[in-house]
Order: sequence, then structure tokens, then C-alpha cells
Amino acid sequence: MKEKCPVCGELFSIGEDLDKGELIYCTECYADLKVIETKPLRLKEVEISDDDDFDSEDEVDDDDDDSKLDDENSDYMGYED
Ligand SMILES: [Zn+2]
Repeated sequence: MKEKCPVCGELFSIGEDLDKGELIYCTECYADLKVIETKPLRLKEVEISDDDDFDSEDEVDDDDDDSKLDDENSDYMGYED
């Protein structure tokens, strides 16, 4: 049984009897597809993320580095009157 991929438009082989909600993938472009209807067969691209469990802690280091050395030459020579 061949079906047209909704993503790449190519015909690819799928199983004989698919159930509604079954997840398959296109053998041409490897897109993940879900069977949303069986009669007639309708496929929809789904996005499967294998790991949706990541925390992105953005710690902004807003630290103004004020390490400018006040290095004025203080070679004052005391003139003696
Ligand atoms: Zn495809």
C-alpha cells in the first residue's frame, strides 16, 4: 500500500491496515506522520520531540566591571622654598 506523503509529496509504502491515531513516518523524507483518518486515509505531519524536558535558565551576569585603576602619577616633588 502506498500513500502520498503530505510533507514531501512522494509516494511511500505504509502498512496495510492503519489505525486512527497511528504514528508512521515517510520513508522518503522521514517526516513523522499521524493517521488522522482511515477512510479515506489522511495523514498529518506531527512533530515529535523526544525530550521536551529541559530547563533553560538564563542567568544574566549583569556585573559592571569597574576595575579601572585610578593610577594617577602622584610624583609630586615638594619644592622647598
Ligand atoms: Zn515525505
